[in-house]
Amino acid sequence: MSLDIHLFPCLDDNYGVLVHDPASGITASIDAPDADDVRDALEEKGWKLTHILVTHHHHDHVGGILELKAETGCRVIGPKGEATKIPGIDQTVAEGDKFTLGSAEVDVIETPGHTLGHITYVIPSAKVAFAGDTLFALGCGRIFEGTPEMMHASLRKLAALPGDTAVYCGHEYTLSNGKFALRIEPENAALQMRMKEIESLRAAGKPTLPTTIAAELATNPFLRAHVPAIKERLGMTGAPDWQVFAEIRERKNKG
Ligand code: ZN
Ligand code: FE
Repeated sequence: MSLDIHLFPCLDDNYGVLVHDPASGITASIDAPDADDVRDALEEKGWKLTHILVTHHHHDHVGGILELKAETGCRVIGPKGEATKIPGIDQTVAEGDKFTLGSAEVDVIETPGHTLGHITYVIPSAKVAFAGDTLFALGCGRIFEGTPEMMHASLRKLAALPGDTAVYCGHEYTLSNGKFALRIEPENAALQMRMKEIESLRAAGKPTLPTTIAAELATNPFLRAHVPAIKERLGMTGAPDWQVFAEIRERKNKG
């Protein structure tokens, strides 16, 4: 089965994503950063909004829901753990839940850490995942509500998806993430090559997304806390992976 996926910039550095199933005419917006931006994208594609799939409760992901719902009557699906914080929610989902979106089956994975109820939507038949603010290209979300151990476990779940899974993330932070990644792994050749691609994409005003799980496993320091060379560089040889992850996150927070 094939889905059409449309990625577009929203607000300052957010991304909106529309997922369209031509067979059924169903169109889902992944989060709703801004009603005007989502509406413009729908008009551009000629698609009618039927669903909003919410990853987490932050305003830059839910701010457009009520307006879009009032206009289209779309169904709002979101994380059970944050139901009271998500305006207009119709259906809650949790770890292991599955639901259909037109001809596609969607799997729900709980990926807490950035927020406690954060979820990721995976469509295995289309080899695609919508990771919100959990996994970014070359980075990961800030840990606002959870613990480093929790966030690390969430990222390991995503790391276990098939390598060719395309990953859509909530923000365009790739260039600054990459500069930080190079500080952690200056000699990672795959990372060096990827940074050249990212620099030219950004210079041309193009998105660096989607990424893939395989690309992240090779270059994203937050998915590489188990790599002995990284542990050694951080002076953490023998430390548990999640502690190394926590140290990398801490360094990134300091800028
Ligand atoms: Zn967020
Ligand atoms: Fe966000």
